[in-house]
Amino acid sequence: MELKKINDSIYYLEHVRETDRPVLGYVLGENFSIMIDCGNSKAHFDTFIKCLDDHDLPRPKYALITHWHWDHTFGMHAFAGDTIVSSLTNDKLQQLKSWSWDEESVLKRIETKEEIEFAYQCMKEEYDSFEEISVTTGTIIFENTLTLDLGWTTCQMMKVGGPHEEDSCIVYVQEAGILFAGDAHSGDYYHGEGKMDPIKMKEYIAFLEGTSFTTYIPGHGAPMSKEQVIQLLSKFCAEE
Ligand SMILES: [Zn+2]
Repeated sequence: MELKKINDSIYYLEHVRETDRPVLGYVLGENFSIMIDCGNSKAHFDTFIKCLDDHDLPRPKYALITHWHWDHTFGMHAFAGDTIVSSLTNDKLQQLKSWSWDEESVLKRIETKEEIEFAYQCMKEEYDSFEEISVTTGTIIFENTLTLDLGWTTCQMMKVGGPHEEDSCIVYVQEAGILFAGDAHSGDYYHGEGKMDPIKMKEYIAFLEGTSFTTYIPGHGAPMSKEQVIQLLSKFCAEE
């Protein structure tokens, strides 16, 4: 896992397939910096902070959370700053926080389809014990969009929905034309066994087409150009 550099002020920590650790993003501003998503555990979060320290990058003031899924949020409790979430994401985190996090309870939730087998397997890899899991809610809550002026650079957080989850948000770094996408374009694993709704996908592609960016950074993969991502996603709405 290493910190990859997009330019002098934008970085990301690569994803890890085995434990489903997603990309963690970083944007440096003149006045403060932000991170995108908090990772799937304190260990994941700490790895990211260590990378920043190693590169002499200031620690983030805010963490912007793309959606409620465990792999993006279970590191939130380790963050000392404010966490920014949409109200929809926060409602879901509230529910997750009220649940018991021991192995038996997680297995029961797989039976009731509140949890998925894949997440359970990855949690088992990431954690020595399920009891270490700690869920927390956000501290700054927005409805649909929120703009942060970091100095030099502006980050716009937008709730876009899309095929993956209703609460999916993207973080658009305006001046640089970089889009941190979280999992917005992925299939729906919690309600649809990974299926992609072609109508939601079309709406999401239309959003991408209407947004001016050069680099698209997905939550579980390598960066793509605007042309590449639109071409890739268009395949999922082809046969209708
Ligand atoms: Zn997700």
